Amino acid sequence: MAQAFLATHGIDLDAELAKMQSPDANPQSSPNLPATATQSSTGLPIHPTTLPTSIRNVSLPSRPGTHDVTLNPNTGKITYIGAHDPEIALLNLANQEYGNAALLAPSLCHPHIHIDKAYLLSHPSHSKHQITEGTFSEALHITNLAKAAFTTQDLLERGQRVVDESVAAGVTHMRAFVEVDAIVGFKCLEAGLELKRLAEREGKMRVQICAFAQLPLFSDSQTNSWSEEAKFHDSEAEKIRSLMREAAANPEVEVLGSTPYVEADDERAKRNVEWIVDLSVEFDKHLDLHLDYNLNSSSEPLIHHVVATLHAAHWTEKTTDKTIVIGHATRLTLFSAQEWTDLKIAIGDLPLHFVGLPTSDLYMLRTPERTRGTLDVISMIREHGLNACLGVNNVGNAFTPQGTCDPLSLASAGVGIYSAGTMKDAEVLYGGVSTRAKAAIGFGSIAGNPIGEDGSKEGEIRVGDPADVLLFGSEKQNWRTRKSVAEAVYFYDCCRGRRGFLGGKATS
Ligand SMILES: [Zn+2]
Repeated sequence: MAQAFLATHGIDLDAELAKMQSPDANPQSSPNLPATATQSSTGLPIHPTTLPTSIRNVSLPSRPGTHDVTLNPNTGKITYIGAHDPEIALLNLANQEYGNAALLAPSLCHPHIHIDKAYLLSHPSHSKHQITEGTFSEALHITNLAKAAFTTQDLLERGQRVVDESVAAGVTHMRAFVEVDAIVGFKCLEAGLELKRLAEREGKMRVQICAFAQLPLFSDSQTNSWSEEAKFHDSEAEKIRSLMREAAANPEVEVLGSTPYVEADDERAKRNVEWIVDLSVEFDKHLDLHLDYNLNSSSEPLIHHVVATLHAAHWTEKTTDKTIVIGHATRLTLFSAQEWTDLKIAIGDLPLHFVGLPTSDLYMLRTPERTRGTLDVISMIREHGLNACLGVNNVGNAFTPQGTCDPLSLASAGVGIYSAGTMKDAEVLYGGVSTRAKAAIGFGSIAGNPIGEDGSKEGEIRVGDPADVLLFGSEKQNWRTRKSVAEAVYFYDCCRGRRGFLGGKATS
């Protein structure tokens, strides 16, 4: 009787008991692992078989009423969704969580965060460098001073703060940039990989490390104004290319990234793009490009060369489900409707995504240089049919002193930034820090969830989806509890009472 009843709730009692008795039944619980990874090399845990978790009495996106949802940590999937049924509370054969009608939504994601430069303004090793002018050039100067003094210990401490505060916010997936150059060598990369292994071993978060060339690959500091401030550590372009190639061969590095905008001229910027595209194809890695970071209408947007280079390299045929993310591309805010249409056509079937970085862009917009805008991700998605999401970029440093590690704060701020106040807007904004952000960095298909080609709605939770979800906190007075995605976006909750689940297991 109990067995049949549990089966309707996605719980196979026989299978669970058999697994509990079998020492061999140790499936990985974290989904979407790189094909090359093994349990030991990624530091992923060997979980003892765990009972499913039944999250009771929750509100779900786009569904009326309250529901019970079963997460299976052995498969990492959602195995059951049904109308809330108080009767199952009498049985004790699943771990039970109680939502009290609070929202259960897809978990959050950082698609773009510079983990090695986080919290420089507050860590004792670097806090002597504070912002006194608030200019872009000062931010570059302060950050380069700090970077020259990075130690493994302070990288680990600052990075761990990013992980801890992100987990508390309900982030389950993150793309973290770690810089690779002649001065830091692999110091940032090694610290990033250590943080990744620990976070994944503890089941807190899936961390995707991007080996990132922030400095030029084809210009030296004598010809380059971007690195003029840091002449004491010459970019040594050739050395960086050599280090990046070595990083690309590391199976734990899942993404390669570069910064064409720091090159001395357009010709070198194009070479930067071509080189990093070729390297990504050769090693079958995701690609992340930081480019077109200006508001100069007379400058040629590099995005066109990126798209042409990706097609010429036969990206979709030669890589296995690897995505391309474009960040910092403020130049595109000057595009006309026709230019967006032309770009959408040129992109074609490339898995190319844009990430808006509004908190960083708006801070720099107000600096005396006034050279930044911010991508309107809502209209890019709605009007131009592009893939776009939102990222924190920096936190607690001279490029972005304000903000938190909570991506939902970006979605909430986006209501004002993009004048996007409808409930549908709020759902797109939530997707921008959740499902759309995950799709951008290669976790799950955007066609499989937010777009709705199969009839599903933005951010809907379905049986068979990865059990990566976020349960919002409940309040004593029921009407104060956030029960819809719109309420979660409108009424920022400062992370109170949130609980994240990764692959069906609680992350905190
Ligand atoms: Zn960035």
